Amino acid sequence: MGQRFDVTERFADGAQYIGGRPRAGTSGRRHAVVDPATGAELLGYETAGPADVDAAVAAAERALPGWAGATPGDRATALHRFADVLADRAEDLARTETAQCGKPIRLSTEFDVPGTVDNTSFFAGAARHLEGRSAGEYSADHTSYIRREPIGVVGSIAPWNYPLQMAAWKVLPAIAAGNTVVLKPSELTPLTSLMFARAASDAGIPDGVVNVVSGAGEDAGEHLVGHPSVAMTSFTGSTPVGRRVAEIATRTVKRLHLELGGKAPFLVFDDADLEAAVHGAVAGSLINAGQDCTAATRAYVQRPLYEAFVTGVADLMATVRLGDPFDPATDLGPLISHAHRDRVAGFVDRARSYATVVTGGAAPAGDLAKGAYYLPTLLTGAPQGSEAVQREIFGPVLVVLPFDGDDEGLALAGDTPYGLAASVWSRDVYRTGRATRELRAGCVWVNDHIPIVSEMPHGGYRASGYGKDMSAYSFEEYTQIKHVMSDNTAVARKDWHRTVFGGR
Ligand code: NAD
Repeated sequence: MGQRFDVTERFADGAQYIGGRPRAGTSGRRHAVVDPATGAELLGYETAGPADVDAAVAAAERALPGWAGATPGDRATALHRFADVLADRAEDLARTETAQCGKPIRLSTEFDVPGTVDNTSFFAGAARHLEGRSAGEYSADHTSYIRREPIGVVGSIAPWNYPLQMAAWKVLPAIAAGNTVVLKPSELTPLTSLMFARAASDAGIPDGVVNVVSGAGEDAGEHLVGHPSVAMTSFTGSTPVGRRVAEIATRTVKRLHLELGGKAPFLVFDDADLEAAVHGAVAGSLINAGQDCTAATRAYVQRPLYEAFVTGVADLMATVRLGDPFDPATDLGPLISHAHRDRVAGFVDRARSYATVVTGGAAPAGDLAKGAYYLPTLLTGAPQGSEAVQREIFGPVLVVLPFDGDDEGLALAGDTPYGLAASVWSRDVYRTGRATRELRAGCVWVNDHIPIVSEMPHGGYRASGYGKDMSAYSFEEYTQIKHVMSDNTAVARKDWHRTVFGGR
């Protein structure tokens, strides 16, 4: 493995960021951030416990009146500076993200970090466009208008697959709208979230507006969700944990935003550009080692193209270079942990009894054996009802199935509980038009799979959750609407009083 990355000095003060200062957790429990490419410990830290969450929520409450009361222009200026600070630290952020996640440095450099900077710039601009519908005299005697107000302290919980981007997606719309935030990143990957919060402070965003508690889901996470002073829970993660979070949040009647798991179909009609579909399927299923909630996981290919598609994908997967994530030539890094790699391998091993492993299906040998690597894997012949087709594997595993008529393809594509993303491949505008109408997913790509833009929403249907990240639509999540109705007659005895107590 090439040159590794030492983070111990940078996080010597601890892995919590509360009220504008780094500090150590007080849970009494330690957790290690591990480099999944080697299994070596990058940083041992004391996790956040309930007292740390309480301190972070208190800091966010203190910061709330000032930040909510700032003008949209002031918040926009601070967010523009924030984008500049992040851009200045791009290389450092990319290297830290690669170190803690094992994701290839090309991906961190060309996707995670620029995406985060762009999101920050977007929300800097969007902060000045928090609009309501028009004001007017909807009753002849009153003027009505809408105030769009922040919700309060938002408790955000994020997963490990894109830690920096997830921190950005959770924090930016919330603070652009005037809320303050306590973010709990995954305990596996807190480093770039801490750097993100530090960058916010260095950009002049007031202390306490962005706080980070690094701790386990069961104590820091649940305490944050159940906290009476937290007005909203914004969660991104798996569907089972999302259900648990929803149960806890309901007890205190919190606003809830859930971005959950996915099992995206990739629907290839027989008039599709085969080369484009094959390349799209390999890129879409292997991005971030398949640890992407929108990854292409189930390809349904119309019978005339099926054999050629399977061969094309298998051949292309065989060219993918596994290696040191810091090597710019590496296409596929390790999975997030050895435990997760074993979970992915378990799905594939069980599938051997009902499906064919066309390529992959094993961890690589040799130099990479110490890391949490898994070969790009293609499965065929899996029944639609099998777990390989129905459950989120979250690894570099693509299942391919044939179909005959368009109706059948659309029905199979829709046949899982999830609804986060889907793609359709065809040159026929009527076929793609029908598919985009009928597929029940928060995002449907046509002749592509994966790209995202800050201006457009990301979020699920059905078991993939509800609520939108990115885009101006996310303000619907992080603001509440107040109707102000103001009498404009200055009359003491109003006409409508007669309805209640006659003419007196
Ligand atoms: P996870 O559900 O295990 O954990 C997500 C976060 O929840 C972590 O910070 C974890 O510590 C915390 N958590 C765990 N138990 C908790 C509890 N009882 N109470 C409160 N918090 C708790 O998910 P993961 O393994 O970190 O990430 C992978 C999952 O995230 C996949 O299902 C993926 O599809 C999903 N994901 C979804 C989106 C989206 O936008 N829809 C984006 C990225 C990832």
